[in-house]
Amino acid sequence: MERIYNFSAGPAILPEEVLEQARDEMLNWQGCGMSVMEMSHRGKEFMGIAAQAEADLRELMAIPANYKVLFLQGGASSQFAMVPMNLLRGKTGADYANTGQWSKKAIKEAKRYCTVNIAASSEDANFSYAPSQDKWRLDPQAAYVHYTPNETIGGVEFNWVPATGDVPLVADMSSNILSRPVDVKRYGLIYAGAQKNIGPAGLTLAMVCEDLVGETLPGTPTMFDYKTHVDNESMYNTPPTYGIYIAGLVFKWLKRKGGLAKMEELNIAKANVLYSYLDSTEFYGCPTATSDRSRMNVPFTLKDAALDEEFLKQAKPRGLAQLKGHRSVGGMRASIYNAMPIEGVRALVEFMKEFEKSHG
Ligand SMILES: *Cc1c(COP(=O)(O)O)cnc(C)c1O
Repeated sequence: MERIYNFSAGPAILPEEVLEQARDEMLNWQGCGMSVMEMSHRGKEFMGIAAQAEADLRELMAIPANYKVLFLQGGASSQFAMVPMNLLRGKTGADYANTGQWSKKAIKEAKRYCTVNIAASSEDANFSYAPSQDKWRLDPQAAYVHYTPNETIGGVEFNWVPATGDVPLVADMSSNILSRPVDVKRYGLIYAGAQKNIGPAGLTLAMVCEDLVGETLPGTPTMFDYKTHVDNESMYNTPPTYGIYIAGLVFKWLKRKGGLAKMEELNIAKANVLYSYLDSTEFYGCPTATSDRSRMNVPFTLKDAALDEEFLKQAKPRGLAQLKGHRSVGGMRASIYNAMPIEGVRALVEFMKEFEKSHG
């Protein structure tokens, strides 16, 4: 079978060039006689791979020197606990924006450690929009403000960065990191699971301002303390070596493609192909507020949900895969991360038009 267009929300599509390079280097990385998977994480080969990955990421995102880049494990879900454990720093409360399923999980976990103030919420409209700044009720005493710039399940994305005064802003960028330029210094901490827009599952990235590191809640496990990873350059224990290697190849690919400004252009173009079609027809619907539609995850519905199964069944042999919406919302969802070529989005829209013609 040919490679398909994989619209999965995560683990997700990776650039074909990256997979080809990984294949070519699988048995013998650059003449060293072994696979990256078989290398000591403390050997010079792997240390070089990790250092290069960090350098390329720093360049791509223009990460300031006073921010530490950490290669962690445990997924974004572990960050839901690590954030309060590390960032409360003597305070007892934090602000959270409640904009979807992932915010909700972050909030639930934070409540184990502190008082959570819901600073903004879109629950009143089934998480279909991003609450505007004038609706936020921030607590100036909060230790930090947490939000989810792209809600992977609801398909809602913030196209602006919340202003939080002197209170550090924390972002779960799992599903839109590297999709556009980001002004890192506006954040105290950015984190992301790798399996959406970075690389394979098992690696979690964090970028943290060094001022925020070093004061944890009593009882914080060693592995949950950012300082452990800062002091040991993410090598306190065995890091997810192969994941870091693939992420490094993705960073190189992004640089070759022209960097994040270019990615943003492409991502806007791709999203427009799909949204403009969705807006042009009554046969399909899109539940998200026009101004807050995600460029990465596009939920859509068939007006007649009884056709859902048939839609998926006919999409599959055309190489259009993993379009089923999240179980909590139903309908369809097309995730169109950096690695999804515009041809894939066009092929999807072509199919949607034909399906409309034969079933509308
Ligand atoms: C996928 C996702 C998570 C969960 O990531 P894990 O790595 O599975 O823990 C958290 N937040 C967002 C925004 C996500 O898209």
